[in-house]
Amino acid sequence: MLALDDIDFDGARVYAIPMTTRFRGITVREGMLLRGPVGWGEFCPFLEYDDHTAASWLATAVEQCALGWPEPVRDEIPINCTVPAVGPDRAREIAATSGCGTAKIKIADHPASLRDDLARVEAVRDALGPSGAIRVDANAAWDVDTAIRHIRQLDKAADGLEYVEQPCPTIDELAAVRRAVDVRIAADESIRRAEDPMRVAVAGAADVAVIKCTPLGGVRRALRIAAAAELPCVVSSALETSVGLGAQLALAAALPRLDFACGLGTTTLLRDDVVAQPLRPVDGFMRVPRTPPEPDPDRLAAVAQTDPDRVTWWRERLRRARAELEKTPELTQW
Ligand SMILES: [Mg+2]
Repeated sequence: MLALDDIDFDGARVYAIPMTTRFRGITVREGMLLRGPVGWGEFCPFLEYDDHTAASWLATAVEQCALGWPEPVRDEIPINCTVPAVGPDRAREIAATSGCGTAKIKIADHPASLRDDLARVEAVRDALGPSGAIRVDANAAWDVDTAIRHIRQLDKAADGLEYVEQPCPTIDELAAVRRAVDVRIAADESIRRAEDPMRVAVAGAADVAVIKCTPLGGVRRALRIAAAAELPCVVSSALETSVGLGAQLALAAALPRLDFACGLGTTTLLRDDVVAQPLRPVDGFMRVPRTPPEPDPDRLAAVAQTDPDRVTWWRERLRRARAELEKTPELTQW
């Protein structure tokens, strides 16, 4: 059992960073940074999450600052660009200027979206050329019949889709769609807790698992979950600053196999960062940090939460999450 006493919980820093784009309904990203014997970790569960859920996020921060990460097997990670639900000209421009060989395109953002979705997908194929990989994310918008119909058309428009992410809400629906189409199905929203990847795999519901170590309780835990699920994994961000994103890169770096580009180019969604050199993709790749990124004192001061009520709220939340962590032994067995 790791000594949580070695971590400076009392000195944890609360940050508040405005987003460049509203994302997940969030306009300001809030969280905490805490220092342990080997570096810093990030505690940033979304505001609505309960203490039990937040304890898993804290386990990720504790692993990072008290234990460090497992050995990487690669030192750079291919990254996808993300094309939001924009018109075809803007979509073409985003894909063409991203430097990425893989684009993830948001689709199905309104009920009559198919025509727009097809135009967006065609424009991105045009920008990436035949060697580019195109995946689409429906964020659970469809029923099974709609999914099957739309996926077939989108696959044609894309001249081959790499995969479709979360076409329907439930695991059974994903399995039904997967049986009916030739395109790979990826599970994202269906995988939020440690048990979910196994349920998805057992149901034959997906070919690819989108995983995030931040909510799953750490890099080592996410590696065990990925191994047990026996599905190829794509690592995706939880909107961390560069400190927490380091853990996601460490996971992508330690997976025995990495067949697909990862969704980790997300610090551009934040107006500021806690490090001097934010972790960003260059020419479609991100370097894996050798050690957990260290916050820069100037940046830390610049993004510090100044509302005393919010600081108190986060300190209380950290205290409760720590209590929850202490009574959940499996979360501290990295
Ligand atoms: Mg998704």
